[in-house]
Amino acid sequence: MRVYLDNAATTPLDKEVFDAMAPFMLEHFGNPSSIHSHGREVRAAIENARKTVAHLLNTSPAEVFFTSGGTEADNSAIVCTIRSLNIKHAISSQLEHHAVLHTLESLAKSDELELSFIRHDDRGVLDLEHLEEMLASQPQTFVSVMHANNELGNLNDIEAIGALCKKYNAIFHSDTVQTMGHYKHDLQTLGANFIVGSAHKFHGPKGVGFLYTDASLKVQPLIHGGAQERNMRGGTENVYGIIGLAKALEIAYRDMAEHQQHIQMLKDRLIFKLREQLEDVSFNGMSEFGDKSLYTVLNVSLPPSEINEMLLFSLDINKISASGGSACSSGANAGSHVLRAINADPDRGSVRFSFSKYNTAEEVDYVAEKVAQLYKKVTV
Ligand code: PLP
Repeated sequence: MRVYLDNAATTPLDKEVFDAMAPFMLEHFGNPSSIHSHGREVRAAIENARKTVAHLLNTSPAEVFFTSGGTEADNSAIVCTIRSLNIKHAISSQLEHHAVLHTLESLAKSDELELSFIRHDDRGVLDLEHLEEMLASQPQTFVSVMHANNELGNLNDIEAIGALCKKYNAIFHSDTVQTMGHYKHDLQTLGANFIVGSAHKFHGPKGVGFLYTDASLKVQPLIHGGAQERNMRGGTENVYGIIGLAKALEIAYRDMAEHQQHIQMLKDRLIFKLREQLEDVSFNGMSEFGDKSLYTVLNVSLPPSEINEMLLFSLDINKISASGGSACSSGANAGSHVLRAINADPDRGSVRFSFSKYNTAEEVDYVAEKVAQLYKKVTV
């Protein structure tokens, strides 16, 4: 058995998605900007994909722009808004993905921006009173807070943050990469000016994502060089990627309740089995609490042991693919800025198991048993 529990890094492509994409690789190859029929049929397919995404998110197709993924969508929302609207102050959190954190930090470094961070506790829960204090003293700011943390799984109350931003006339961007396709987003009630999606996190293809942009904000593009995406992103579109993204989101919405129930069951089972078989196991962040964390992510804190040095490697040898931090440092074990920010004990081992609709209870039992064996071996 080989078990893949690194679905927060990327998910396997759904066969239904592949079937929707294949004709756009082989038959419908026209350039969507061409005015002849080969181009027009592809243009129509892209616009249909945009309508599908817009419909699922309860917004207008004019507010959905396709990108190369979550990173580009986050960069666009941040850089374009801050520069186009001449914003001088941003508020974020130290627990953001690097797509957000490094982008904001680079603007702060070049003195384009003053950057402040919302306080959080040792479980990574953000202090929204602190956010309100900062917003009250500095209205018209740019706020970027992720919907769910990709390492800990913590869910942030983005409805409440959206309401605070509205109260203080701030612009709100939320990195929704980890919740897109796993929870429903209703843009009529959410109160966010920007949200993003990345197809490969919900069984779509890699290298394609989207940015929702509130049409009332007039922002300039990040990538120049063509009139594609209504002048908001130059470059020939990733046609089959876009078709796959829309199909994957459609399937995710269609089957959401069933998958949520199945995956939550797997996560609860792993928590139970690990507790049953290991004396000293705990969970980082809010990971173990059902309504406060992603049902797809469990961040496990393991006892101090020499095993911890080579934890991911040892799991890999035991045919288990998991991650020790964010997707982007996956396997490299570069250390996690999130675990450091919540003061996680560096002597303990941390591993992020993340589930998908394709995982089974049998796989979870196998993983719990292998993890327990690893730690028992050294303590005997
Ligand atoms: N934001 C979060 C929270 C993520 O987890 C990721 C991927 O790991 C990204 C952004 C980047 O998305 P992409 O891989 O599509 O560039």
